[in-house]
Amino acid sequence: MSTNIQQVIAAEQNPALRTIAEKIVNKQRITPEDGLLLFEQAGLPFVGALANFVRERLHGDTTYFNRNFHIEPTNVCVFACSFCSYSRLYAHREEGWELTTDQMLNIVKGYDGKPVTEVHIVGGVHPKLTMEFFADLLRKIKAHRPELHIKGFTPVELDYMFRKAKLTADEGMKYLHEAGLDSLPGGGAEIFHPEVREKICADKVDAAGWLAIHEAAHKLGMHSNATMLYGHIEEFRHRIDHMERLRQLQDKTGGFNTFIPLKFRNKENDMSNVPESSVIEDMRMYAIARLYMDNFPHLKAYWPMLGRHNAQLTLSFGVNDIDGTIDDSTKIYSMAGSEEQNPAMTTAQLVTLIKQAKRKPIERDTLYKVLHDYSEMEVDKIDVDPSMN
Ligand code: SF4
Repeated sequence: MSTNIQQVIAAEQNPALRTIAEKIVNKQRITPEDGLLLFEQAGLPFVGALANFVRERLHGDTTYFNRNFHIEPTNVCVFACSFCSYSRLYAHREEGWELTTDQMLNIVKGYDGKPVTEVHIVGGVHPKLTMEFFADLLRKIKAHRPELHIKGFTPVELDYMFRKAKLTADEGMKYLHEAGLDSLPGGGAEIFHPEVREKICADKVDAAGWLAIHEAAHKLGMHSNATMLYGHIEEFRHRIDHMERLRQLQDKTGGFNTFIPLKFRNKENDMSNVPESSVIEDMRMYAIARLYMDNFPHLKAYWPMLGRHNAQLTLSFGVNDIDGTIDDSTKIYSMAGSEEQNPAMTTAQLVTLIKQAKRKPIERDTLYKVLHDYSEMEVDKIDVDPSMN
């Protein structure tokens, strides 16, 4: 799927865009002004071809996925983010759920003998679920299945826990890491710029707090991901500001694995009047993210939010990872108006999706160690072997 990038650049009429493209081809960093110009003036074929060029330079056709499952401890939340369709405020918690430690351990035990490699734990911010409660859960999961990678808790949850425990970010991260937390997911970032953050999620951790918690994790040798919720009231300059802050922290620590643009969905939340972005704008977002985030090794499309077919499309616009089988009865996506009402894909379905896009399906672990190359395997053979499901 190689692109003749020089022909694409030569055909571009706008000299400023041609200059940016030459920088990218020559592995020079593009500036915030360059990024803004791409958002404002570049068409999808131009940024798409460049993003595909960068993606193939970094990863060839390799497209990663993993086998994971999710636990959502609670959807009760003390915060009230206006884009959130998921949380139930503490005052209305009769509509919510709170899982006990045993219930969560039983979810883990339900995967005994199955080749999942990661559990992803994220939920609302329940005022009574303390850091000690979660540390106990982490220890029990590790005692039951030591090799299972635990990726859990956004800085929104962590900031609340640490403040209640009167610990700094460094102290709190060390405590949870020692209890068994292996890495951090990318959530809770939304849009960092205060002009937007104050309108959509004013009361939760701010940009500095979010970044400080990831930095604390990186200092301990933990890896993490980063998201950006795009396509609502933010302007292009807010997206660039967001990506620039992440790029700067990555220059400092090198601890991020993956950048994940998350599409805003407007179902059943306080921003239902805000239209959703078009597929063209989604693909431009992914492509420009690949061009801007030059120090992030991976760009991921989160297929439950985007829909599996649009996620497949992103594989031609810079994306080299489409997350995991997820494989559970999670409510976080369907309640947020995602394309996928019951997000789960078998390994065979994920492999098929990647192969249809003429890419190479590679199962990875959380830290991108290659576990299995499915490129030569016929899809119908995957389901024949039950251990591969
Ligand atoms: S986005 Fe997270 S922090 Fe905000 S209300 Fe929803 S669950 Fe709570």
